[in-house]
Amino acid sequence: MPSETASDGIRYEVIPIMTPQVLTILGSTGSIGESTLDVVSRHPDKFRVFALAGHKQVEKLAAQCRTFRPEYAVVADAEHAARLEALLKRDGTATQVLYGAQALVDVASAGEVSGVMCAIVGAAGLPSALAAAQKGKTIYLANKETLVVSGALFMETARANGAAVLPIDSEHNAVFQVLPRDYTGRLNEHGIRSIILTASGGPFLTTDLNTFDRITPDQAVKHPNWRMGRKISVDSATMMNKGLELIEAHWLFDCPPDKLEVVIHPQSVIHSMVRYRDGSVLAQLGNPDMRTPIAYCLGLPERIDSGVGDLDFDALSALTFQKPDFDRFPCLKLAYEAMNAGGAAPCVLNAANEAAVAAFLDGRIKFTDIAKTVAHCLAQDFSDGIGDIEGLLAQDARTRAQAQAFIRTLN
Ligand code: NAD
Ligand code: MG
Repeated sequence: MPSETASDGIRYEVIPIMTPQVLTILGSTGSIGESTLDVVSRHPDKFRVFALAGHKQVEKLAAQCRTFRPEYAVVADAEHAARLEALLKRDGTATQVLYGAQALVDVASAGEVSGVMCAIVGAAGLPSALAAAQKGKTIYLANKETLVVSGALFMETARANGAAVLPIDSEHNAVFQVLPRDYTGRLNEHGIRSIILTASGGPFLTTDLNTFDRITPDQAVKHPNWRMGRKISVDSATMMNKGLELIEAHWLFDCPPDKLEVVIHPQSVIHSMVRYRDGSVLAQLGNPDMRTPIAYCLGLPERIDSGVGDLDFDALSALTFQKPDFDRFPCLKLAYEAMNAGGAAPCVLNAANEAAVAAFLDGRIKFTDIAKTVAHCLAQDFSDGIGDIEGLLAQDARTRAQAQAFIRTLN
C-alpha cells in the first residue's frame, strides 16, 4: 500500500493492510499491556495475538494466554517458565513458553508478526524494540526509554528498514494526531513553530517544598489523573517523565530542543499541542485513558472503538496552565541539560534515573535523592559518541554502577 512517506523523511505511517493484524505485545502484564489487550479484545476481527511477554507476573500472564491464545508467552527465566507452563497445562492452553532476553527479541522479530507493542518498562525494553525495527515491523512505542537511550540509532534503524514508529505515549500521540498528515520531520516546511508537551505536574505540584524529603513511595505513585506502572508514576512525580518525553519528542518528530515547550496543565485533558506559524495552536483532548492513543495507533488509518467514554465538558470546571518550576522539579532541568548535551548524556540520565527510582521505591533513598543521584552521574566522565547498542548498554551498566555507589553514600 502507498505509504505517506517523504523520500528522506521519517516514516510515520507504513500501515500493513493485513487483517487480522498479528501482534506481539511486550510487557502485556503492565498497565499499557492490559490497556492494549482491552482494545484488542474489542476487535477480534482486526487483531490476532502471536506472543505475549509478561516477565515475572505468571498468574496474570496465564490468564491472558487463556483469553487470547497466543502461540508464545515469554517470561523472565526458567523458574517463571516452569510456573507458567504448569498453569497453562492445568487448563489445557496450548501456548508455548519461552524465557529470557533473547526470547523477547525472537517474538518481536518473528516473520508472522506485523506489529509489536513495546510496553516493557525501562531500558530493558530496548533490545526487543530495536529488533522489531530491524525487521521493519510496525512499532507501537510506549517504551520511551528506548528513544532516550538510543534515539539516533533506533530512528535510523527504523528508517533504514521501513519500520513505522507510532507513538503510544499520550503526549506524542496527541502531537502525532495534530501534525499535518504528510509531516516529514521538517518543522519549518510545515509552518510549525513549536511542539508543546503538556504535563500534569504530578501529585506534588503544590506540596510544600520543605516536606519533599519526607515523601513516601506510596504518596509518589498516587498520580492525580493517570493509573500507570510504579516507575513512570514516580517519574511523573519528579517530572523526569516530562524530561524523558522531551527527548522522546526530539527523536520522534525530528524536533530541535529549542522548538520543544513544556506547559503544566494539571487537569490532563489537553494531551499536547502543535503551535503553527499563523497563530493557530492545535490540540488533542480526551479523558486520561491510554486506550485512546493505543486504539488510535492500532486502528490506523481507521478510528476504532477504544472503550473510553466521551469527554464531558459539563464536568470540566476549568483548564489551567502554568510554567514548570525547576526548583520544584530539578529532574526536568537535568533532562533538558542532557538533551542539549546529546551524545551519551540521555543514556546516562536514564540509567541513573532508573537506578535511583528503584532505590526510592525500595525505601533506600529519599525522594529528593533521585535528582541528586542523576546529577551525580551526569557529572561523571562518559564517552560522547556511542554508535551501537553494545556501546549504549555498556554505558548504561557503567552508570547504574556509579549510581549504586553514590546511593550507598547517601543517608
Ligand atoms: P508497568 O510497570 O505497569 O508494566 C511494565 C511491563 O514490563 C510489565 O509487563 C512487566 O512485567 C514488564 N517488565 C518489567 N521489567 C521487565 C524486564 N526487565 N524485562 C522484560 N519485561 C519487563 O509499566 P507501564 O506503566 O505499563 O509502562 C510501560 C512503558 O510504557 C514504560 O516505558 C512507560 O514509560 C511507558 N508509558 C506508560 C504509560 C502509562 O500510562 N502506563 C504512558 C506512557 C508511556
Ligand atoms: Mg506521557
